[in-house]
Order: sequence, then structure tokens, then C-alpha cells
Amino acid sequence: MTGFDVLVIGAGSAGSVVAARLSEDPGLSVGLVEAGAVPSDPDIASPQQWPFLPGRAFDWAYRTIPQPGTAGRSHDWPRGRIVGGSSCLHAMAHVRGHPDDFEPWAAAGGPGWSYQALLPAFRRSERFSGGASAMHGDAGPLDVLLPGDEIHPLVRDYMDAGVSIGAPRLGDHNAGPLTGAAPNQLTIRDGRRVSVADAYLVPALGRPNLTLLTDVLVHDLVMQAGRACGARITRGGVQEILTADRIVLCAGTVASPLLLMRSGIGDPDTLRGAGIACRHELPEVGRNLHDHLLAAGNVYRARRPVAPSRLQHSESLMYLHSDDSSRAEGSPDVVLACVVLPVVTEAFARPEAGSAYTIMCGVTHPTSRGSLRPGGPSVADVPIIDPAYLSTDQDRRSFRASLRLARAVGRAAPLRDWSDGEILPGPGVEADVDLDAFLARAAMTHHHPVGTCSLGPVVDGDLRVRGIDGLFVVDASVIPSITAGPVNAAVVAIAETWAGATDQPRQ
Ligand SMILES: Cc1cc2nc3c(=O)[nH]c(=O)nc-3n(C[C@H](O)[C@H](O)[C@H](O)COP(=O)(O)OP(=O)(O)OC[C@H]3O[C@@H](n4cnc5c(N)ncnc54)[C@H](O)[C@@H]3O)c2cc1C
Repeated sequence: MTGFDVLVIGAGSAGSVVAARLSEDPGLSVGLVEAGAVPSDPDIASPQQWPFLPGRAFDWAYRTIPQPGTAGRSHDWPRGRIVGGSSCLHAMAHVRGHPDDFEPWAAAGGPGWSYQALLPAFRRSERFSGGASAMHGDAGPLDVLLPGDEIHPLVRDYMDAGVSIGAPRLGDHNAGPLTGAAPNQLTIRDGRRVSVADAYLVPALGRPNLTLLTDVLVHDLVMQAGRACGARITRGGVQEILTADRIVLCAGTVASPLLLMRSGIGDPDTLRGAGIACRHELPEVGRNLHDHLLAAGNVYRARRPVAPSRLQHSESLMYLHSDDSSRAEGSPDVVLACVVLPVVTEAFARPEAGSAYTIMCGVTHPTSRGSLRPGGPSVADVPIIDPAYLSTDQDRRSFRASLRLARAVGRAAPLRDWSDGEILPGPGVEADVDLDAFLARAAMTHHHPVGTCSLGPVVDGDLRVRGIDGLFVVDASVIPSITAGPVNAAVVAIAETWAGATDQPRQ
């Protein structure tokens, strides 16, 4: 048995921050276990390659069950199985969200989870190319690039098209208003991806009190008298137990609740159905699963060849307030993304790269809530993932509104020189029923599942699992209600906040 003061499970976005920050205290021994290996595929570092990484050996390659809301389709859910986790696969967009997005967090977990309370963590985490200010930091571990000359000319015209239909022009969507047209801030340095492990973990690995164990699969937790005290693992084909005074789950939205449930923590009926004995009743584990969807997409035939992106293909997320929105003015309900490639789901034929471009569209604050559960008691059992996509009228209405706005931008004057006509949804697809039918086939994940170990019912304001001593969850799964944007910036801020809290629970 190997023992640590703190055992961190999962070296992804959150785990990299937690292990690096905790090990700044030389008096604390920190173990970090990761199912995957250290990155070796050179494509990971290349921003242009990100769409082609899913399905490789370092992807957990999850899949949802068929979704009634998306024409019965199952959806691939890539997740990183590698040091750096999903930050080695992600699209590098760095968006904090709208300050209002954090109000439900504060309501669930206390005032320490409001935007204002998280702002020091957002600032501390970043090395912003735009320089330090009250809203930004320039001395943190994570490079955040505000692109300039590299922005694709098509994307510049798309942002102008947004302005022409009434969107404000923003220089920086992480410094106040989010609604408007802005270039994406990106975790890229010198033309290369910066994963959260690159930023936080790699510089910390020389510390004698930090031990990284790779290719180690965690099966479940060892508990004694209501306290988590170890993890059952397989290392080099051999089963063993790692012990620790504190255990921090950073295995992500899919794997953290599965680990809890395999350890007998969850809803008794759900556990029984998977052949697992319930040891601690916590019914909300695995529930509240939600995700952003994008439609792929509103595709246009290009009048002239579209040059490849010098960044990561999708260079501007434009947040908008639609006419159908019930959200406060200034808080978005829909998002558009200009991609300099044709992007379609498996339901449509894909035009040649360079011959077409896409305005993807989606809902920033979905109300659909699903769940996930283990398919059986073993870590090898395939989980049953049901995000319940588009299961509410409100989400279907907002999705339609997003497509209408995508078309309004796509047809606006600044993009006329680019467009040789709309390919998808295509002429004649205008009625609500036809738009819904198209969107059901065009919907794909924006890769932001959250909510399955929710702040409130599953973890308390210190991110401690309710009713179990010494056990914490610190990752995307604790997000009770999704932010408007991609969630990695928020995950890093959660981990920074938890690891940096001066009153952080030691037991
Ligand atoms: C294709 C894609 C594109 C995305 N694009 C963006 C984007 O542009 N911007 C953005 O903000 N977000 C994006 N995201 C989302 C973002 O990457 C994630 O929300 C974030 O990385 C989640 O961090 P996490 O720490 O919760 O989990 P992860 O980073 O997934 O880390 C979990 C870690 O736990 C390990 N683990 C799991 N189970 C076990 C086990 N049993 N034993 C040992 N180790 C285990 C995993 O291997 C992994 O390393 C994208 C995600 C994907 C997949």
C-alpha cells in the first residue's frame, strides 16, 4: 500500500490544477493518479488538429444512448484519457461565461461561488496576452491568447455581419459584457496548444512531494466508518490500494459520479440496477447531467476558396440575446460559432474543405436535464449516458431562435462576398416543424457535459461529498448549472478556488 496526505484521482483540467497547487506546500505529500499516459501524439499540440483527435487511443470514447430529442441518434462523447485530460482534446476556447451564470452556483454552494468571488481565481490562473487589468491576470500558469492578425478574414466579416444585425462589437468577452461579437480567446502559445497539464502540472513535477502515477485505473474507493481512506487501482496489471487522508475526485463529469456509484454512493435503486450494494444514500449522484448542443450547421457554399485557419478553425463564438429570450438583457441565450470548414453531423454529406464554411448555432443555458449511471459494478462496464437532449420546449424554441440568428448573420451584407448560397438547412426549410426536424439531425455535443456531482445536493460549498469524510469532488461535475460558454475556464477557476482556499478543509 502506498500512502499520501492527499490522493487526487484524474490528471485532467481540474486534477492538474489541484495537484500543482496543493503540492506548493512542501509539507503535504500529494499523489496524482491518471488512467492515461503522458501525451506523445504530436497532433495534440497542433491547434488545427483538434477535430481529428477524438477516437484515438487517448480518448475514453463514450457514447450516449439514443436520444429521442435528436431523431433517435446516439452521440459520441470524447473525453481525454491522458495527462491533461480533456484539455488535450478540447478546442482551446477560453470563455468564463456571463457573471449571472454563477448566481445559481452561489445559491447552491454559498457566496464563495459567485462570479465576483471567483474573479481572483480567473485572474490568478491566466497569462493573458492582452496584459493585466482589474479583470485579467498576466502572470498565471495558463496562456490565454487574444488573437489579432491571425484571425481569418471570413471570421472578421462574420463578426461585422453580427454587428450589422445589432450585436455589439466586443474586444474581449472575458471582461464584462458577453453578448456581442468577439474573437475567441484561446489557450495557445507560440502556435501550440497549452493543456492545463502543460500549464500547471508539468512545471510542478520536479517537486519531491508530488507523485504522478500514469496508466493507473481507479476502480472504486475504500471507505471505513463513513470515511474515504483509499482507492482500489490496477497498476501494471496488478491490483493494489492507495491510501490517503484526503481523496479528491477530479475524474470529470462522466467518471467522477461513476466512481462514487461503483463505491456504493448514490441512489439505492440505481445502484441495485447496476449490481452494486448501496453504502451511502445520495440520490442526486449522476443526475442533473446537462450539456451544450451545437447545430452543424448552417452551411454555406463559398464563392471563393476558404483558406485554412491559422488558429483552431472556430475563431469566434458570438453570444446573442434572441427575441425569444427570457434572460436578463445583456445575458445571452444563444451562441453562434463561425467555422472556416464545413461542419456536418453523420446525417448529412460533408462538402470539401475549402469549398464551404459553417455558422454553428446553439443554446447557452439548456434546461434539459438527463442522468448517467454505471452499466455494471466494474470499471470496464460501459456507462449508460442519457443527456436528454432537447427534451424541453424551451430548448427546442431557443435552438430554433439560434438557427434563425445564424441565418440572419449568414445573409448579412458583410458576408455576401463569401457566400454562393446556403447548403444547410437549405432553401425552403423555414417552418418551425421543418427547422426542428433539421436541428434534431444536425445537433451535436459542444463537449461541455456538467452537473453530475452537483454543488448543493451532492457536494457542499467546500466541495465535500455530503455525508462522507475526507472525500471531495473538484471538476466539471460539480457545476450545478452550466455557464454560457465552454466550461474549461470555469473548471480551472473551481480548482484554483478550492485548492487555494485558506480555510480549505484539511480533513
Ligand atoms: C473535443 C472537446 C472539445 C472541447 N472544447 C472546449 C473548448 O474549446 N473550451 C472549453 O472551455 N472546453 C472545451 N471542452 C470541455 C473541457 O475540455 C472540459 O470541460 C474540461 O477539460 C473538463 O475538465 P475535468 O477536469 O472535469 O475533466 P477531464 O479534463 O476530462 O479530466 C478527467 C481525468 O480523469 C481521468 N480519469 C477518469 N476516470 C479515471 C479512472 N477511473 N482512473 C484514473 N483516471 C481516470 C481521465 O483520464 C482524465 O484525465 C471540450 C472537450 C472536448 C472533449
